Amino acid sequence: MFQKILIANRGEIALRVLRACKELGIQTVVVHSTADADAMHVRLADESVCIGPPPSRDSYLNIHQIVAACEITGADAVHPGYGFLSENAKFADILAAHNITFIGPSGDHIRIMGDKIEAKRTAKRLGIPVVPGSDGAVTDEKEARRIAGEIGYPVIVKASAGGGGRGMKVAHTEADLEVALQTARSEAGAAFGDDAVYIEKYLEKPRHIEVQVFGDGFGRGVHFGERDCSLQRRHQKVWEEAPSPALNAEERARIGGVCAKAIADLGYSGAGTIEFLYENGEFYFIEMNTRLQVEHPVTEAITGIDLVHEQIRVASGGGLSVKQEDIKFNGHAIECRINAEDPRTFTPSPGTITHFHTPGGLGIRVDSGVYSGYKIPPYYDSLIGKLIVHGRNRVECMMRLRRALDEFVVDGIKTTLPLFRDLVGNADIANGDYDIHWLEKYLAKEE
Ligand code: ADP
Repeated sequence: MFQKILIANRGEIALRVLRACKELGIQTVVVHSTADADAMHVRLADESVCIGPPPSRDSYLNIHQIVAACEITGADAVHPGYGFLSENAKFADILAAHNITFIGPSGDHIRIMGDKIEAKRTAKRLGIPVVPGSDGAVTDEKEARRIAGEIGYPVIVKASAGGGGRGMKVAHTEADLEVALQTARSEAGAAFGDDAVYIEKYLEKPRHIEVQVFGDGFGRGVHFGERDCSLQRRHQKVWEEAPSPALNAEERARIGGVCAKAIADLGYSGAGTIEFLYENGEFYFIEMNTRLQVEHPVTEAITGIDLVHEQIRVASGGGLSVKQEDIKFNGHAIECRINAEDPRTFTPSPGTITHFHTPGGLGIRVDSGVYSGYKIPPYYDSLIGKLIVHGRNRVECMMRLRRALDEFVVDGIKTTLPLFRDLVGNADIANGDYDIHWLEKYLAKEE
């Protein structure tokens, strides 16, 4: 087992990983920018190293500083959290070259899944159902027209290097295709320095359902069921739940089995998420994330398994603590992402939190790095906490969520709490009757 883990992240996820390390009796080192000197993860860690000024590229993305911090403190492993360097293959390779363990998959697996064309090709080879579309990059308009004609409109043009919902354009008819192709390509070139794009069928009313998988490092794979993350705004997840209100036990076991087998065949090691769009009873692979997800706590709530413990065990060569047959699903869990944003316009609302009171009681978990008197710096993403609620079934979970939202107090800044108080009383949400466009339509109506 590791002696000392360096946590290369900030905010709630740095704290989340720190808690797991403490439970396992592992020493912790955190890194931070000058803007985060007062952050909770810095206060609670055994050691901390300031790695640079506020902008992420000079601190949390600065590979050399982070490797130097490992060497100074003698850390033998790095947990990257999510975002920042968590899906950076070069970072994984550099750590390996320094004999420091990256708590995540190999650089090669990160590379494959980071290129969406390659990821889709790999998924298909492993027997995962994919969205119908072009086999690889599409370069000229004639070829694009031929493929779109074959799969049928509407189609979506997507950047191979894409992420965060950028570089995607929908063409409803052949007349839109040329513009969609050009816009997606120039957006991709500007955002990612790679203008390769591909085409796939645009699904009109899908749900976003993702499967949590794990490779144990010895060639075996398991799944921890699915999460439904269909409630999104600008392709950003807002509310996540497990299990999906749309799946039955048989569908869950089937898609879970396909994913677990794929992970085993790939020889993948560590946590991963295979993301699908789901429509009319069919799953369509869109991408795989090779890291821990923001929404992992809903899976922990219904399985009772600490996924960060498992990540650390696997990375240290100790394998998983569970086999597939040990993973049982119990009840229902929902996570609300609480952002420091205006709940109507979603513009960021940094500043000082004058009062912070979190709900408690049975089935309630709050993962947050903030506290009363904490000043939210304007440099990073606006997530200030996650409320995760568990109940024996979805109805109980929703009742408890409504109560927990009433108890939650964040004063001094604007947050998205009022949005969740609206959603929890909505009939479609109560019925689990929503797709990936539901939230944006709802918000447009509210205006
Ligand atoms: P990113 O990595 O940029 O987040 P994804 O491939 O995960 O890109 O897609 C993000 C979101 O875009 C999906 O959750 C879905 O809302 C939408 N999307 C992507 N592909 C399709 C498709 N073929 N049909 C309909 N919507 C899609």
